[in-house]
Amino acid sequence: MQFEHIVGQQEVKERLITSFRGGRLAHTQLFLGPEGSGALPLAIAFAQFVNCKQPTETDSCGDCPSCKKFQKYAHPDLHFYFPTTTTDAVKKEPKSELMLTEWRTYLSKNQGYATQNSWYDFLGVGNKQGTIYVRDAADIISKMALKAYEAKYKVIVVWMVEKLHESASNKLLKTLEEPPDNTLILLVAERFELLLPTVRSRAQLVKVPKITDPDIFQWLQDQYSDATAAQSVTRQANGNLNAALEILNNVDESQSNFILLSQWLRLCYKPGNFVPLHQFNQEMSKLGRERQKSFLKFALESIHNSLAINHGNAQLVKSTGEELTFVQKFAPYINKANQIKIVGILNQAIFHIERNAHAAILFTDLSFQMVDLMEAGKKFVKNPF
Ligand SMILES: [Zn+2]
Repeated sequence: MQFEHIVGQQEVKERLITSFRGGRLAHTQLFLGPEGSGALPLAIAFAQFVNCKQPTETDSCGDCPSCKKFQKYAHPDLHFYFPTTTTDAVKKEPKSELMLTEWRTYLSKNQGYATQNSWYDFLGVGNKQGTIYVRDAADIISKMALKAYEAKYKVIVVWMVEKLHESASNKLLKTLEEPPDNTLILLVAERFELLLPTVRSRAQLVKVPKITDPDIFQWLQDQYSDATAAQSVTRQANGNLNAALEILNNVDESQSNFILLSQWLRLCYKPGNFVPLHQFNQEMSKLGRERQKSFLKFALESIHNSLAINHGNAQLVKSTGEELTFVQKFAPYINKANQIKIVGILNQAIFHIERNAHAAILFTDLSFQMVDLMEAGKKFVKNPF
């Protein structure tokens, strides 16, 4: 992680670099910033910078052996601790070391912009909340006792210090106060008021503000080159990069769901040639489970919209533009002859996907039922009584 890949936060970056160059390196630092501000990536970029073999004035080189390992979050002197809980793979006594592979994959996926919810989602633990356990504190202490393998500074990154169990923080107090030479402890937190006073008082504070609107806007425009969309997402994101990404993903997903749905319904409406419908089913079966569910939920929503239009409640329909035109054209064919059954088969398909049904068979079956139901709907339009 290089500073240049972190959105905005120029002042924080400069302050970190200046303090390091001035020889004022505090050995325990607390990176405190709200969700989506980049406190964790800043801490990682700082750790990479102080260990880089040939840093520039403003950044690590990104190219030396040390940087390369840091960029994979896999330097032997970079140690991560974070909230964990029991998972399918770790059924008891969870701790950070047992989930390092998942953690590295997760960080790579999010360019270091971690949030608690997305981390727990990634682990697939539902609504369970994580903790940094006393077992983790014991691991930290034993890591400290060893010499660095190859780095100038051994780095311990503790993400979401709010989640430090009290017993764990008690165990760490002495270590936080006097880490061994050439060791950096970088604590990362979102909410100061939730930190134990004993932890707060032992670390030098690095305040990370929300990302400014111009910085988020600039980044969005560089990525997506659509100024109007970038403006609207910037307003909604309120300085939170994770929120901006989520909004963008939802927009993309909803657009692609619409394209898939209009394609599918057209194929089911005019089933003269089954080859394209078969291809459609094959394509759907290759998407991930979450994408398949998202498509089916979107289909269900569109059917509900059609029913609202049919019953003179068009004001309930949130779709706009071509999506609305499509639903309006299609609405007459969703009627008494098929509406309950269509809702039923879509709900059932969602139910089965959640239980790992074979996707190709499921979509083939669903499409054939839909062809019949569309036929019944068409007949009803011609002869409603
Ligand atoms: Zn380097």
